[in-house]
Amino acid sequence: MTNKNRTVPCFTVSIIMQDIKELSLKELEDKLLCWGSPKYYAKGIFNWIYQKGAYEFNRMSDLPAALRKALAMEFSILGLELADLEQSSDGTAKFLFALKDKNLVEAVSIPAARRVTGCISSQVGCKFGCNFCASALKGFKRNLTSGEILDEVLYLKNNASGGHPALSEEPVRASAQQLSHIVFMGTGEPLDNYENVLKAIRIINSAHGFNIGARRITISTCGIIPGIERLALENLQIELSISLHAAVDKTRSQIMPVNQKYPLEALIKCCHEYIAKTNRQITFEYILIKGFNSNLSSAQNLVKLLKDLRLAKVNLIPANSIPELKIIPPEISEIVSFRDYLFGAGINVTLRKERGQDIDAACGQLRLRHEEK
Ligand code: SAH
Repeated sequence: MTNKNRTVPCFTVSIIMQDIKELSLKELEDKLLCWGSPKYYAKGIFNWIYQKGAYEFNRMSDLPAALRKALAMEFSILGLELADLEQSSDGTAKFLFALKDKNLVEAVSIPAARRVTGCISSQVGCKFGCNFCASALKGFKRNLTSGEILDEVLYLKNNASGGHPALSEEPVRASAQQLSHIVFMGTGEPLDNYENVLKAIRIINSAHGFNIGARRITISTCGIIPGIERLALENLQIELSISLHAAVDKTRSQIMPVNQKYPLEALIKCCHEYIAKTNRQITFEYILIKGFNSNLSSAQNLVKLLKDLRLAKVNLIPANSIPELKIIPPEISEIVSFRDYLFGAGINVTLRKERGQDIDAACGQLRLRHEEK
């Protein structure tokens, strides 16, 4: 008997889609087996996402229709949306992404003669409070998931060198230059989000993922000793950069509060051990800040600190001016003298060419401006 007046309970089932990029190849294979599908489809799905840049399961034309449908019911592919884009006259493009929870993160693509480098964020905000860096100004919100980190890479890969990505529904295929290098030098501290960053790196590096060679992937850290020790055991050929910025504890602690927890003597000891275990070079990033760490005696202290490290390189970076932080670079003559002193002392030293000067390309600057609007 039917009762026309009966109110039918209306169940709203809210399905939270899982980000498929949070699954390793093995985890996806297990999922397919669980569904009764052959596991080799997992490699095909990886290929569609990471190599061909598909944002929809529907496009995966060589998968059975039923599998495509099942995937679409359970998983999402791209979780972020473009919130802002600034393009520099030198080709550098800075992307501001809105995550599903509306938090904002930045990523930058930096084309050069034979490479395109993607600078990726690992956290929303940063808890380390380095006072030359705009990332920390709004405090720390949360870690990015491995899927969100891969979202940044995926978006950059699909849009790094092609026109106005934001305006096109289909990813614009990078033509002349492909995303070739990844540096974790965007917002956040990668070694403070260790598991998710490493999980993402394994997919960035995997032949079935982005297939970017380990030596083209750089983790940059403010000097989290336990993270560096852990990294030394990973058997990964990735590059390690350490943000040093001063060579004596008193000065370093003034700009990098993390130095109080992990002071220079312990940090350099840890670097010796890292080099002994991995036989890999460490790059020390040194931002030159006018009136603070750029005179001859700072250069002498830096040489003293690093002289016994077997595989070390210094990358000098003239500070990007950040008005909120009253940071400015030294005059070019002082920068050159600093570099020449290091060079004369036998240190392997490079001077970073500044990119994206006209678009607030330093860490955290675009997000800062956006949130101030
Ligand atoms: N937490 C990690 C990753 C952030 S990247 C780390 O500390 O290494 C940090 C790097 O961003 C610095 O080493 C520097 O290369 C760059 N950076 C941040 N603020 C800058 C500024 N004001 N001028 C120039 N480079 C800056």
